[in-house]
Amino acid sequence: MTSRDGFTWTPSDGLKPGVPSLGVISPSSNISSTQVEYDVIVIGAGYCGLTAARNAALDGLKVLLLEGRDRIGGRSWSSNIGGYPFEMGGTWVHWGQSNSWREITRYRMEKDVEMSFDFAKGVKHFELNTPESSVTMTHDDEDILLDSALKKFTNIDGFYGRKTIPLPYTTFHQPSSIPLDSLSALDRINEIADTLSPQERAVLEASILLASGGTLETTSFHEFMHWWAMCGYTYQGWLDMLITWKFRDGQSTFARRFFDEALATKRLSYAFNTPVQHISTSPSAVEITSRSNTTYRALRAICTIPLNVLSDIKFTPPLPTGKQAAIAIGHVNQTVKVHAEVSNKDLRSWTGINYPNELHYAIGDGTTPAGNTHIVCFGGQNRHMDPEVDVDRTKRAVSSLFNPGNYAGQNVQIERLVFHNWSKDEFAKGAWFFAPPGLLSEHLDDMRGRHGNVVFANSDWALGWRSFIDGAIEEGTRAELEVREEVVGLRGVKQKL
Ligand code: FAD
Repeated sequence: MTSRDGFTWTPSDGLKPGVPSLGVISPSSNISSTQVEYDVIVIGAGYCGLTAARNAALDGLKVLLLEGRDRIGGRSWSSNIGGYPFEMGGTWVHWGQSNSWREITRYRMEKDVEMSFDFAKGVKHFELNTPESSVTMTHDDEDILLDSALKKFTNIDGFYGRKTIPLPYTTFHQPSSIPLDSLSALDRINEIADTLSPQERAVLEASILLASGGTLETTSFHEFMHWWAMCGYTYQGWLDMLITWKFRDGQSTFARRFFDEALATKRLSYAFNTPVQHISTSPSAVEITSRSNTTYRALRAICTIPLNVLSDIKFTPPLPTGKQAAIAIGHVNQTVKVHAEVSNKDLRSWTGINYPNELHYAIGDGTTPAGNTHIVCFGGQNRHMDPEVDVDRTKRAVSSLFNPGNYAGQNVQIERLVFHNWSKDEFAKGAWFFAPPGLLSEHLDDMRGRHGNVVFANSDWALGWRSFIDGAIEEGTRAELEVREEVVGLRGVKQKL
């Protein structure tokens, strides 16, 4: 099945909207009547909504899942082109991400992951291109450079943040961690600028922007330190947990397990292509109205709509002012992720940074059925581009990751591009959550708070792996438990009457 989302480009077919994905659901709805009163309506079929809907259905609740897109997975989904998966959004998983790994072992998928990196053959080097210089180094030297730069950036307390954020799930636990949220990444770089070599500064800035997808000014230093703490306060943990292990057959194979399990209970009703536009909560129930003006009723709702698009929904009564303020600020991540299938086989073992550039970080990520190298490239708000608007520019941004003087740069022939524009996506308006300074210390509790009978759940305000698939599953689990306890309680009350 082909999703409306995403784009491909090849020399023969040019630019085409829509890509094939296992995540597309057909038929798009299994609802026969709108008169049903559900126990819970889950809005959004990303990992958070899928977890909540599945758990509720398994727990015996009558569930309705409403989704604006034609597919499951939200910001994590894969396109399957000729049997090869291209990850359009969330990709990497790790056993240190306990909610994700619980589900991976639950579905017996622990052997279905593979490494993105393969440094066994090919050019086996890292290229660093900046306006000042172009250098090529071994991956060992790449690690030494990044380790040194990140250690200088994170060593705020002589323990690389361990003393300041000892409990990453309660990130503001230590009073000394709170002022870090007033600092931007640029503020912190300015504090340590004298200690950084030009190469350290370039890889540090590129790595920060790879994490935040914003600019150095809009990246909260506290949130960066939160990520660092989640990764065990080390560069090796950072590398292992953030960018190493992915599903061999793509994220959508994982998401399907949640959906199919929920469906098998026969307690899951669903409607895709059904954007919600109005959520109304009364003392006893909720009413959810779609763009096509159909109204659905339930005792409770779990709203998994991301922070950057919540302003498009009308709430009755209006949301509390703290939540409205958080929504007005939003998150800052406008990551551009572009897959390029290139003819040079030696690039499988290549990694590169070209900073600054529209695409500033890339790695060899696989070998396609045609025997070409698949490289995955990242840019963001720093030099933002819409990859579909000018494909020649996108191709130039890919090619300029390579120094033409290098062995690797000589024969880079782009055979295919695959991408999704997350910034223009009406159901996301950005990539993974990343906080600007001040947002979390002021509004994390507001983002997490409920509104009458509507419980809000999303990776954007998870406590641990906030911004990750794991955070979505953490939140879906929490929200379903809260709702299930209430629904079971209400049923108990009804039984006694
Ligand atoms: P979402 O996936 O956003 O789900 C919300 C759902 O609500 C969506 O399906 C959306 O369509 C739906 N929705 C929105 N508005 C409406 C409406 N009005 N009516 C009905 N439905 C609506 N995480 C990792 O762990 N590892 C990674 O490597 C990684 N890389 C990433 C790379 C990119 C490019 C992106 C974009 C994200 C990445 N992430 C990664 C983050 C991860 O994808 C997200 O944090 C996670 O998928 C969020 O899940 P969620 O269910 O909380 O939200």
